[in-house]
Amino acid sequence: MNISKFRMPRQNKQGAAWQKLCDYIDKVAAENGTEFSPADYLGRELFAEIQTLPATIAKLKTVEKIRLSGSNIKLIPPEIGQMTALKSFVPYPSEELKWLPYELTHCKALNYTHISIRAQYGNFKTRKPFPSLRDNPLRYDNEHVCCSVCRKEMTWEETDQFWINLQVGSHVMPLLANLCGESCKAQLPAGARGYVPILHKGGPELKQRGLGNPFDGPKAITKAMMDKWLDEYDRGLQLLNEKIAKEKV
Ligand SMILES: [Zn+2]
Repeated sequence: MNISKFRMPRQNKQGAAWQKLCDYIDKVAAENGTEFSPADYLGRELFAEIQTLPATIAKLKTVEKIRLSGSNIKLIPPEIGQMTALKSFVPYPSEELKWLPYELTHCKALNYTHISIRAQYGNFKTRKPFPSLRDNPLRYDNEHVCCSVCRKEMTWEETDQFWINLQVGSHVMPLLANLCGESCKAQLPAGARGYVPILHKGGPELKQRGLGNPFDGPKAITKAMMDKWLDEYDRGLQLLNEKIAKEKV
């Protein structure tokens, strides 16, 4: 199985593109703007150099709509969870974008998303394998990291990282959670139906459901039959992955 190793985006933070992006964020925040569309402000050429977003997006408290179409962005930082007015998140098409933070679930008004599904780890079309967080944990740029649940500040040595697929707006997305301990781990919901049902660390040993949308069944199969089958399948998958997790921890 071909598992990609993740490399942090090598964002040039000295160049004109990053500087202009930071200025744009300050401008939208100062004007209480409702839309964040950096391609329009930077122009296509500079926008193509952007691989992640600055932590200062946390200031965009009035922004309802993020448009990142056609970007080379690889990673969205957890500060997006502080954009409390966010309703619409449209990075599509952004084939490089694979790392989305669990903090997206903090955006309670978020009800519309459009992402490049095939690019996502664990997507139902290709079941793209998840990179292992055991061998290759992700480090954001910040010196510290906050727990994705209780928001407590931790060192990078203290955090425990997991993947979980959850419904966010219009899509099920693979989200990266940083967790401070067992009590916060216990607060995360089960994975979305049709996906790995428990928190996991990815890697080649992880078993995923087979290809295809589990809800695309022949018409003769009733919803009750499908639900029963899914419940049995999920239970089996859960037991298997719990066994893998126990052996690894
Ligand atoms: Zn916590």
